[in-house]
Amino acid sequence: MSDASTTPMMKQYLAIRRELPEDVLLFFRLGDFYELFFEDAKTASPILNVALTKRNGVPMCGVPHHSSQGYIAKLIKAGKRVAIAEQTTDPVPGKIVERAVSQILSAGTINDLNLLDSNRANYLAAVFREGKKLGLAYVDHTTGEFEVAEFKDTTELVDELERLQASELLYSEDQRELIDALGSPACAQSVEGYLFLLDQAQHSLTQHFKVQSLDGFGCQGLSAAICAAGCILQYLQFQLRRSVEHIQRMRHAQTSDVVLIDAASQSHLELVTARGGSSHTLLSALDRTCTPMGARKLRHWVLHPLRDLDTLTQRQDMIAALLDESVIFSQIRTLLKEVRDLERTSSRLSQGSGNGRDLLMLASSLEVVPALRTALETFGSPGFNLLLERLHDLTAISQEIQRAIADEPPMQIKEGGVFREGWLPALDELRNASTLGRQWIADLQNREIERTGIKSLKIKYNAVFGYFIEITKANVGSVPPDYHRKQTTVNGERYITDELKRMEDKILGSEERSKALEYEEFLALRGRVLEHLAHIQETAETIAILDALGSLAETARLFNYTRPVLNETRNLFIREGRHPVLDQNLTSGERFVPNDITLEPEESRLILITGPNMAGKSTYLRMTALLTLMAQIGSYLPVHSAEVGLVDRIFTRIGASDDIARGQSTFMVEMNETALILNNATERSLVILDEIGRGTSTFDGLSIAWSVAEHLHDKVGARTLFATHYHEITALAQSRSAVKNYNVAVKEWNHQIIFLHKILPGSAEKSYGIQVARLAGLPENVIDRAKEVLQQLEAGHQPAESVKEVPVATSVPAKTRKKVVSDEDKGQMVLFG
Ligand code: ADP
Repeated sequence: MSDASTTPMMKQYLAIRRELPEDVLLFFRLGDFYELFFEDAKTASPILNVALTKRNGVPMCGVPHHSSQGYIAKLIKAGKRVAIAEQTTDPVPGKIVERAVSQILSAGTINDLNLLDSNRANYLAAVFREGKKLGLAYVDHTTGEFEVAEFKDTTELVDELERLQASELLYSEDQRELIDALGSPACAQSVEGYLFLLDQAQHSLTQHFKVQSLDGFGCQGLSAAICAAGCILQYLQFQLRRSVEHIQRMRHAQTSDVVLIDAASQSHLELVTARGGSSHTLLSALDRTCTPMGARKLRHWVLHPLRDLDTLTQRQDMIAALLDESVIFSQIRTLLKEVRDLERTSSRLSQGSGNGRDLLMLASSLEVVPALRTALETFGSPGFNLLLERLHDLTAISQEIQRAIADEPPMQIKEGGVFREGWLPALDELRNASTLGRQWIADLQNREIERTGIKSLKIKYNAVFGYFIEITKANVGSVPPDYHRKQTTVNGERYITDELKRMEDKILGSEERSKALEYEEFLALRGRVLEHLAHIQETAETIAILDALGSLAETARLFNYTRPVLNETRNLFIREGRHPVLDQNLTSGERFVPNDITLEPEESRLILITGPNMAGKSTYLRMTALLTLMAQIGSYLPVHSAEVGLVDRIFTRIGASDDIARGQSTFMVEMNETALILNNATERSLVILDEIGRGTSTFDGLSIAWSVAEHLHDKVGARTLFATHYHEITALAQSRSAVKNYNVAVKEWNHQIIFLHKILPGSAEKSYGIQVARLAGLPENVIDRAKEVLQQLEAGHQPAESVKEVPVATSVPAKTRKKVVSDEDKGQMVLFG
């Protein structure tokens, strides 16, 4: 180390390293490589799977500069941050090249489109506790979206974080207990407490947004959230040294505007992730967007259903208009398919990392705007007019780009070839000079062949010697005296001449100057484009909204959806509702059996559903929640007709049996979720409970389920669906006015149970459990004995000794489950055979 640290390069390295946080890995540019040294090298080499070597006793490892993106991605996926130290001066013999950190990359702030999932936002978030208030701020650095919110308790904050799925979560080093309370997410990153100081935050935010106060963003009194927002801004600017120019506004995400869906319910309902894979989510059933921005917007809508009747009605109106005007609708979708990722492209450009291709992408996307505007103008409705106000015609700038940039510009912006011929006369001249020069070299080769008589004479170029004349060994004797020998190789000798070197200076000089001119011109053009950044961003968001609406309309069209009536009542009426995901995923030959739902405050606010396993109870419950949620993003529904009184929250407790993998804690998890519901549900909520109390002994479970149902009916008054195998609870309907019993229809046919999947009034017969057991292949005598025991238990007795001795099981074949669709009963029966 002592040796190494004395070299000027190492001194420079150590000086740069000292300025960086300890956990950041420094990529130090050395020629064509990025090198890592000391501890950084030891940490990175196993992750990158590159060899750890030693030079002068210093551990080091390196990756080629041209393929560095993939290596950086690996480190970031492993939760590391990477600082890039670039060479800032050109190499001059005898002088050390200057280097400086150009930026620090972290999970929450990567901007390489190849490393990002285009269908979801990539968030950097920060949390801060101030007294009782919990502040949250988050930014999608790739698009400039910046939001703040405040919460009363950690549960709400956890739910929001679950929705965001931030890649990086900043917290103050003094607030370790806060991050513990949030379940210590893996993406948490502690930063110095001073980044959260209120005065400092207010100062840097108002400066950045060039405003007097933050009230205009709806941030009055949101001190905890402002601290978090201040931290994000300063972290980006000063710690990561990133550009924040494209972050042009901040929004207060008001939780009172959205239907809150807790983390457990989000996962139970499989909104955006599902056990069966992403094709089984609600999002996938609705997503027919044409652009990445639209896909991200729709995802946001699915996770943030609304409670505002006016906004929802407006969305419905717009879907209706699109469906009415089918020709224009399909025109719009064709146009949208031409639009690329405007948001992320423009923000890459604004962060100085875009290239010619990004400009072209931007131009071709903006090119469709005039036609989109014409299409939207035909509607003339308030909703579309609102979109039109924010859909800017930027043809001038897009035409300028298209006139300027070559058809297939290179990835690099310093290597030339970005601009078209004819765009810049000075550039054309330089380019001509270098083309002419090359031609001159080719001519010279011919002349020299003639002069020397050496047929194999070649003029070549390399980076070390520039142009040289190569003569094979056999011909070295015929070399004229004005050739100066430069180098001997295995096959021959390399020479230069004065004439060749003079020309080389001209060629290289003009090439160099033309590259420099192109780079300058690129920066100037990019600057002109970015003058329109605010309008480009608004246009991109408008396109996203239009695309998301179009996706809902397209889904409605394809699957025959109906517009639900929305209002402020506490009703939920659905006629012939279908489960939105299953409806699209059933294999051919199967059809989803539609079902009705009637929930209203006076007569029927708590519905008890009984019926055997596999009958379709869970499906019915999930369908109810999903249809309500869809209605509250403004979507049409897979129903014959529906009335949805808007809900404030959707709670679910589903799938005790599916949680068995989590072992001992199953019952505890179930009770935690139930507690959350009972403590937070209001009379405007929708509550879905499936098989409550299953994780404990029968009597415990029954008693808990019973009292939970009573509490929801008597005290909370929320619209509730309650599926249970505790048949006894159905007695509640006799003492409670607004409890209604339903069961799932099953039919016996040829000694088999047919699942009709139809929800009918009344409670189920009790004996189906035993019947299902028989179908599964339990021996007949075991079934008979089970019936006997059941009768005795129901009569309140201990089961008496069996009269008959049960013989050793005969060979009943294990029956395999087979689904058959029969034509009987409306052709919708699923059999077990
Ligand atoms: P339960 O909760 O009563 O045990 P599920 O809701 O899990 O039953 O349903 C069992 C299976 O029956 C599901 O996998 C689903 O494919 C099918 N199913 C349920 N409801 C319907 C329906 N309405 N139409 C068609 N198939 C259905």
